[in-house]
Amino acid sequence: MFQNNITRLFNIEAPIIQAGMIWASGWRLASAVSNAGGLGLLGAGSMYPEVLKEQIRKCKAATDKPFGVNIPLLYPDIDKHIQTIIDEQVPIVFSSAGNPRTWTPLLKDHGIKVVHVVSSSKFAMKAAEAGCDAVVAEGFEAGGHNGREETTTMVLIPAVCRAVDIPVIAAGGIATGRQMLAAMILGASAVQIGSRFVATPEASSHLAFKEEVVKAKEGDTILALKQLTPVRLIRNDFCKQVLEAESRCASSEELAQLLGRGRAKKGMFEGDLSEGELEIGQVAALIDEIKPAADVLKEIWGECQALMQDPLK
Ligand code: NDP
Repeated sequence: MFQNNITRLFNIEAPIIQAGMIWASGWRLASAVSNAGGLGLLGAGSMYPEVLKEQIRKCKAATDKPFGVNIPLLYPDIDKHIQTIIDEQVPIVFSSAGNPRTWTPLLKDHGIKVVHVVSSSKFAMKAAEAGCDAVVAEGFEAGGHNGREETTTMVLIPAVCRAVDIPVIAAGGIATGRQMLAAMILGASAVQIGSRFVATPEASSHLAFKEEVVKAKEGDTILALKQLTPVRLIRNDFCKQVLEAESRCASSEELAQLLGRGRAKKGMFEGDLSEGELEIGQVAALIDEIKPAADVLKEIWGECQALMQDPLK
């Protein structure tokens, strides 16, 4: 049986983590991935505190395997989410979009494993200093919130591995076993996969969005809104309005007004493909079908393990 520092840290079989994506990663997806031997994460960024509590309870009922919660640290009611996680004894937290120093010590005091998502070596070192158990190094290819420096996974993984002693989980542009093995050869102990798990029946996203992900080709996503919070999204009508505003150097206020509130929900949860925000990674170009999360995990891990025997096959 395969084992390394990440499978031991989380007590899982396959070193594959399903990203905690807003409007996609509810209890159905997280429990399906955990039951299949990976680590499922609930995406708390789009959940009101009561919703997170309910989702954690449903996830516990659906799996006796470990699962975790992803919290973007800029979430408005962050203290309520943290309390829920402690009260419900969730064993693992993946934090993102914020300073890992703020909540890591409290979570660790409660015996919770903490992993922080970073986009540079500098942030990885901060996470290590804050006491995180591991980092997710997420490259430019990734969907959703992204780093400003545009460092690709190919460059980021070896750079972060050189900068910190804690285990590194690679993310951004990974949806196949071949890509997974490449990330591990670059030094990662595991991979975090988001986009591939959106195109599953278990993801809570709208079917129209999932079908759009399957249809997406190379070049169909772009990193936009760098002036506010950089985000990779599909080039739909809303995105074109953003790009047009950016091309004439619109102010941050105008961009914030154009974005408005609830764009991500409109696109990914309600299925408004024209006016909603459709966050997905570049790797959508390699995703051809919607299929169960367990099959996705088994296929990626199976391909990766087969290639470990003969990587140049
Ligand atoms: P908006 O401000 O546009 O909208 C907030 C959305 O979150 C609404 O749809 C709202 O649902 C829902 N929501 C859930 N809990 C709360 C709460 N306590 N207060 C207010 N709204 C809440 O934000 P976004 O949709 O762009 O982002 C939401 C969160 O997800 C943020 O924390 C953001 O950082 C995170 N995020 C993370 C990404 C990543 O890649 N890690 C990518 C994008 C966002 P309702 O409409 O039902 O009120």
